[in-house]
Amino acid sequence: MEKTLIIFKPSAMERGYVGQIITRFQQKGLIISGCKMMQLDEKILREHYAHLVDKPFFPNLMAAMMASPVIVMCLRGKDAINVVRLMTGATNGREALPGTIRGDFSSSNQENIIHASSCPEDAAAEVARFFRPEEIFDWVPQNIRFVYSAFEMD
Ligand code: UDP
Ligand code: MG
Repeated sequence: MEKTLIIFKPSAMERGYVGQIITRFQQKGLIISGCKMMQLDEKILREHYAHLVDKPFFPNLMAAMMASPVIVMCLRGKDAINVVRLMTGATNGREALPGTIRGDFSSSNQENIIHASSCPEDAAAEVARFFRPEEIFDWVPQNIRFVYSAFEMD
């Protein structure tokens, strides 16, 4: 099973959507492997958004990501990185499809509710960036055989 990193951005924290979004992930059968609250700072954001540091909107993005504490979460499941990206929707909330998290909760290109890892390399780096090894639990719920068929289990 894959691991992926979610950040409940200040837009989710301020607008009170964390519970509804966690419910969506649990309904899908994703396993919560790690969860904690933290205040992001400039150092971790420069690493996390290294691909964007030269963009004109980067200072604004940093301020938006530091506007409140965030909740970071590691989710685990089969193809979890792609599954969570599909559930997240397009970056711009105004273009994200209805039914996706951004499509249902965001009308912004920046205040778009959650971050979700975009590929296996990023997911591994991001889980390691936000969690110590002992904060990740490789537990398997008893009902996992009703989430995936025997032929889908690793
Ligand atoms: N972002 C922004 N303006 C843009 C593009 C992106 O403020 O024109 C912000 C937005 O919050 C986005 C984050 O930068 O979620 C990271 O951008 P990326 O292209 O990695 O999008 P994502 O992977 O979050 O869909
Ligand atoms: Mg991205």
